[in-house]
Amino acid sequence: MKRINHLVLAPYTSFHCGGEAETALIQDEIAPLTAAEIAPSNRPTWFLGFGANTLISDRGLPGTTYILRAGQIERQGTTLIADAGVWWDDLVQYAINRNLWGLEFMSAIPGNVGAGIVGNIAAYGQAVADTLQWAEVLDTQTGEMRRLDVVQLEMTYRNCKYLQSRRHLLVLRGAFGLSPHPTKQLEYDSALVVATEKNYDLTTLAGRRDTIVEARRRAGSLWDYRDEHAMRTAGSFFRNPMVAPDVAERIMSYDETHKSLELLRKMNTVHGGDATRVSAAHVLLAAGYQRGQSWGDVRLHPSHVLKLENAGNASAQDIYNAAHEIMATVRAKLGVQLDPEVRFLGEFDSSN
Ligand SMILES: Cc1cc2nc3c(=O)[nH]c(=O)nc-3n(C[C@H](O)[C@H](O)[C@H](O)COP(=O)(O)OP(=O)(O)OC[C@H]3O[C@@H](n4cnc5c(N)ncnc54)[C@H](O)[C@@H]3O)c2cc1C
Repeated sequence: MKRINHLVLAPYTSFHCGGEAETALIQDEIAPLTAAEIAPSNRPTWFLGFGANTLISDRGLPGTTYILRAGQIERQGTTLIADAGVWWDDLVQYAINRNLWGLEFMSAIPGNVGAGIVGNIAAYGQAVADTLQWAEVLDTQTGEMRRLDVVQLEMTYRNCKYLQSRRHLLVLRGAFGLSPHPTKQLEYDSALVVATEKNYDLTTLAGRRDTIVEARRRAGSLWDYRDEHAMRTAGSFFRNPMVAPDVAERIMSYDETHKSLELLRKMNTVHGGDATRVSAAHVLLAAGYQRGQSWGDVRLHPSHVLKLENAGNASAQDIYNAAHEIMATVRAKLGVQLDPEVRFLGEFDSSN
């Protein structure tokens, strides 16, 4: 592991902004963490993978920032055990190459395995919680290692409640119980259209992967840390909120794509939500926001309203301010509480 003092973190995030780590421990080659490297500390600790879901304060991060960007995958029958630093899509491809089902709809989600567990990442009807069996964590305050099974982890929609409330626990590895047979059907119209158009065979893992990667390309949802021209967003900025049924009706009526409420509800259910969880993109449109709208260098992506972008030299505080202005407006106009899916690390000035 490399130790670097005063590491500028902006290049380690998809937003390309934020301050310095007082001390960074970077694992970017395959070597297990040693006891000396993980000496317990009461100083603040922060965790980072590929920075695809994180906004880091311009003031930087005091204490130690662990950055895990490498690791190994081990197979035990139909279970795959992956180190936290493994690029998520490498795990998906590893499973597909071994004819194991259960991760294929989550092809090409950017980030590492550890953050995938903490955020219970999901796409096209599959979520990490569907196959996760356990995660091994390191308590950075005591140095103790623990294995937590999936029930203890309290996986919920786009979240792992247990780890979210214990920010000193660093995920080191996770085990995924996969299947030699298909586990789910693809139910997303946008992906089904791709499969039909391209003649991809959805009964095969390769056909499913090709379908998802193309659907994500069309949705502007591909991002790779190796691509210096990749767009500067963290994907969907807000979680899909829970609302009362009458509010859902009102929000859906602003839908530009003319999907029926019934269809939207079905999609939300497939996505792990329930009858009253509405798309955050619809909420923004209903509150009067428009694609491409900007606040200085912070912009709502011209095609994907839910992606806040650093379209120039925006600071982390600029992005934070825009996000909080949106949240306050949505609360005032619609009575809906939006929660960021993006994680804020460090201190920000809050005015809203
Ligand atoms: C274009 C784009 C498309 C996206 N599409 C999707 C999608 O379809 N579905 C989806 O669910 N998400 C999506 N995301 C969000 C993102 O891919 C996920 O949140 C992913 O898990 C981020 O991984 P990361 O390694 O970059 O995490 P980071 O941003 O580095 O970290 C995210 C959070 O996890 C914590 N963390 C990181 N590693 C560890 C660890 N080892 N132990 C404990 N905590 C840790 C960090 O402290 C932080 O709070 C998208 C993002 C982008 C940019």
